[in-house]
Amino acid sequence: LKLPLPAPQQLKVCVVGDAGVGKTTLADVFLQHPPKQRYRIVTGGVVMSRTLEDPPVTCQVWGMAGVERWRERILPHFLRGAHSALIVYDVSNRASFESVMTHWLDFVESSGQEGLVKVLVGNKMDVDPESRAVLTQEGEELAETLAIPFLETSAKLELNVDHAFLLGAKQVLAAG
Ligand code: GDP
Repeated sequence: LKLPLPAPQQLKVCVVGDAGVGKTTLADVFLQHPPKQRYRIVTGGVVMSRTLEDPPVTCQVWGMAGVERWRERILPHFLRGAHSALIVYDVSNRASFESVMTHWLDFVESSGQEGLVKVLVGNKMDVDPESRAVLTQEGEELAETLAIPFLETSAKLELNVDHAFLLGAKQVLAAG
């Protein structure tokens, strides 16, 4: 007798941040893994999904590729029904970190999406120390102030990328 596996829960994950911080590359790395990959362009963004076994969830990843310029218009579609948001900056670009504080947190909050789990992500941790414009400690401190998880990633070297998406997924599931 084979019991059917429970259908994986669907999670909507939005990836936000300034242009060039690596949102598309992060999503590409996360989504490049089989088994199930689907690709769809919908109103307000680009959507792909990956089904995980542990935890058993399907992460539907919404990227804003190329739509930053008209984000005010696509906002209602983009964040509606989102379970988690990865707020990404580039550790070699100070302005992208400041944008998190001046823009992206408000952007995510303005969705009015209750219980939306936020994860702060400092991407491009592979850059040379001389090119670093945001210290790891600064990311940690901001995340601590906001009481949200934080980690640095490198989409280029594929470091911590799955972990960033999983952090959000696990927290959504834990919140029930
Ligand atoms: P988006 O505009 O936020 O979607 O950014 P992209 O994913 O298009 O990346 C912008 C540029 O940064 C591209 O040239 C990427 O190859 C590069 N990039 C993305 N992630 C990393 C990373 O982790 N390290 C480095 N060094 N470069 C990266």
